[in-house]
Amino acid sequence: MSRTLAAKPRSAALADEAARLVAQTLAARGGKPPVLAAVIATEEVDALIYTEQLLKQAAAAGLAVKKISLAATAGDAEISATLKRLSDDSDVAGIILQSPLPSGVDRAHVVAAIDPSKDVDGATAANAARLAAGDLDGTLLPATAAAVLELLRAHEIPLEGRRAVVVGRSSVVGRPVAQLLTLAGATVQVVHSKTPDMGAITRTAQILVVAAGVRGLVRGEHVAPGCVVVDVGIHADGDRIVGDVDAESVSAAVGETGALSPVPGGVGPMTNAILVLQAAQAAARHAAA
Ligand code: NAD
Repeated sequence: MSRTLAAKPRSAALADEAARLVAQTLAARGGKPPVLAAVIATEEVDALIYTEQLLKQAAAAGLAVKKISLAATAGDAEISATLKRLSDDSDVAGIILQSPLPSGVDRAHVVAAIDPSKDVDGATAANAARLAAGDLDGTLLPATAAAVLELLRAHEIPLEGRRAVVVGRSSVVGRPVAQLLTLAGATVQVVHSKTPDMGAITRTAQILVVAAGVRGLVRGEHVAPGCVVVDVGIHADGDRIVGDVDAESVSAAVGETGALSPVPGGVGPMTNAILVLQAAQAAARHAAA
């Protein structure tokens, strides 16, 4: 059996750090808590539950939380106007636009209405450009991608000089994970839905990050012994949540010298901890400005 890359205790330490920053900010704002706002335009139950959990964690860190629920039929104009209003509100320190969006809405177009200094999920072109330029200083990162790196660091997985493979190239997860791993000194290859023979490449990985959105895509035959595997996938399976990795066969194949992040308990809770921390950091920067 492989080592388990759990989010705890690091995610709890990040929550403490967020609470400490918010407390400092409160003093600077005369006791008025900064707001984390989540805009949600879906009726998908999983997304609604997820947003409630995230806002609960933000409230536990001392942030005021605001949920703005739009109809699942909302269009670009209404979503953009909502994000612009929150961007202009000096009490709002962080803004999250929850997925999925109504069909036909162009995510890249609407996120342009988010003030980059409040973009706590690193969704805007301005923050993506800073990451692409290798400027991590104060940059708000895509939270899930940042969570993958945080999980690897929390478990002291060396990155410099390692061969890493990322499955998936979305702007939300795969691409920023590849950029962050490269900045950390790994040699990175990205595979995606058009890659022939994914296994030939994933078997060369010392670190494998899987963000394909396909349940159980990566199995034991796709990994080498000793590989460290991070599973970003989230799929509801009745009462359970499973990932993009077939945990049983992959855990056996990577063996005792390898590792696997659990689903649930891995990237998911670390992502929430990063979102709340980035909101607290954004609030602290606003209060100091
Ligand atoms: P996406 O659908 O936007 O992108 C999926 C990527 O995987 C694409 O680049 C595609 O080319 C690639 N892909 C699809 N099928 C493939 C295949 N058969 N072989 C190789 N590559 C393939 O998804 P996303 O938003 O990047 O999310 C990926 C997964 O991560 C989903 O399961 C999602 O639910 C999960 N997710 C988890 C968190 C979290 O906090 N843990 C956050 C965001 C997304």
